[in-house]
Amino acid sequence: MVSAKIDNMILKGIGVSAGIAIGQAKIADRARVAVVETTVKEHEIPFELDRLKTALEMARIELEGVKETISANGGDEHIHHIDTHLLLLQDAMLVEETSALIEKEGINAEGALKRTLHRLKSLFSGIEDEYLRERGADVETVVERILRNMVGQRHEPLTGLEGKVIVVAHDLSPSDILQMDKTKAIGFITEMGGKTSHTSILARAMEIPAVVGMERITGMVDGDVTIIIDGSTGTVILNPDQDTFRDYLRRKQHYEYVERELLKLKDLPAVTLDGFAMSLKANVEIVEEVPSVRRHGAEGIGLYRTEMLFFNRNNLPDEEEQFAAYAEIIRKMAPNPVTIRTLDVGGDKVLNDLNLGDEANPALGVRAIRLSLMQPQAFRTQLRAILRASAHGKTRVFFPMISGIDEVRRAKAIVEEVKQELRSEFIPFDEDILVGIMIEIPSAVIIADLLAREVDFFSVGTNDLIQYSLAIDRTNEHLSSLYEPLHPAVLRSLKMVVDAAHGAGIEACICGEMAGDPEYLPILLGLGFDELSMNAVSIPRVKNILRRCTRKEAEAVAARAMTYATAQEAESYLKSVIAARFSDSFD
Ligand code: PEP
Ligand code: MG
Repeated sequence: MVSAKIDNMILKGIGVSAGIAIGQAKIADRARVAVVETTVKEHEIPFELDRLKTALEMARIELEGVKETISANGGDEHIHHIDTHLLLLQDAMLVEETSALIEKEGINAEGALKRTLHRLKSLFSGIEDEYLRERGADVETVVERILRNMVGQRHEPLTGLEGKVIVVAHDLSPSDILQMDKTKAIGFITEMGGKTSHTSILARAMEIPAVVGMERITGMVDGDVTIIIDGSTGTVILNPDQDTFRDYLRRKQHYEYVERELLKLKDLPAVTLDGFAMSLKANVEIVEEVPSVRRHGAEGIGLYRTEMLFFNRNNLPDEEEQFAAYAEIIRKMAPNPVTIRTLDVGGDKVLNDLNLGDEANPALGVRAIRLSLMQPQAFRTQLRAILRASAHGKTRVFFPMISGIDEVRRAKAIVEEVKQELRSEFIPFDEDILVGIMIEIPSAVIIADLLAREVDFFSVGTNDLIQYSLAIDRTNEHLSSLYEPLHPAVLRSLKMVVDAAHGAGIEACICGEMAGDPEYLPILLGLGFDELSMNAVSIPRVKNILRRCTRKEAEAVAARAMTYATAQEAESYLKSVIAARFSDSFD
């Protein structure tokens, strides 16, 4: 344990939700339950099966109680997170496999459950995609809950907290976050998790500073420790000394001042000094993000990643469920548009019902639009749901990972067939819905002029475009220094895409992470992009720079940046421009 004597210990985790919080540690007892596997005699097997059944039932009752608490707190829109856990309680693999282990191997209930968990965990950890891999955390949370009930250790809810605390836990479930009193739990740190876990997404949606992936933190602190967390950088400081404490207090005040000041821009138009309007939109994954999207002044949603609806389950969401989800976001964002991306899974992101088996090269495998075209039934269901939802407000639809014309034509033909079907059933939809594509594969860049004739808009996915152009796995931490947004190949690609789009009279948008970095704004504006879509909290920062630039000077910056042979040179040029022109702006 870190005692009050060990000062100023600086640790680094993954910052998943921006903001600085300073408070006393509150250890949430979410440490793993210690389980001892023992063999049982044959006549004891029914008793062990019964223990499993009772623990499952208790977990169900607890989760129903959590649902009621959330509902009573007016959080109905969050209930689906708990439903995910309730569904897992009935998961055949979890329940039947554990029962079979008790019966066939003659081991106690907790030992059997732990073995099932290990098997499921290794299945999840073998998945390359970070997002899906983290779905394994949901299984673990549910199993921990069941185990606690088996060994008589209750899962204490994080309610009734005293003072302002930073919650420190091995892991926190979405229901823990939803039940927290945000005026008291001012931040959290977990050992588990990554940027795209449900818990992290909720933290961002609720704007609670958070750092995850901080291994062994629960063994390092007790309630006497003062903690500083910086959710932007992932920094955690235990028992800060006076200077550090003052420094972070100042940074916290500055961050909050900047947030307040920038939020004043919320209703101001996103226009340059010389009157060029650029649309600043938000990327979302769940409907819970909409309040934050609105608070930060987004002019709509430029990328709604629909994958969330499809994970954590054994079956695919049917048309009604998808329709309800899409229509809810569209209604909540009205009159601003919502751009819905069709399913971007496959390859390493395996869904039970859309599983095409193992692939040697998942990143280059059957994924995104390729999977949709190979499994047209599921694609049609999603398109029907999107089109029906389009009757409830301005909607655009677009396809991920387009590599050539044929895919676009085939996808559009299915859209037309689905439209015809809806017409014949007298079901309303927006006849003029805009249909676009993501540009994130180099072949799409090279034939952007041909693709532009086929669609209503382009949206560049710089995350994948950089990955595929530079052959750099975007999740490989050893290659992160080679992941260069200002690589001349990337800048030339971006220019080709904008020129092709404008040549055909369609809009060029960006929805990759590059769009949300204010430093890149002069280049993206100067290259001629019409729309940037980003994490909601980045919008005021990007808008602030936009409103202080002229388009003319941005064009000069972009042109100059494109003359450099290396990303480093372009980067240092850009830094000098930012320092000279915007150094007094908020950072
Ligand atoms: C991208 O690739 O830039 C993008 C926005 O899509 P995703 O991050 O979902 O792959
Ligand atoms: Mg992508």
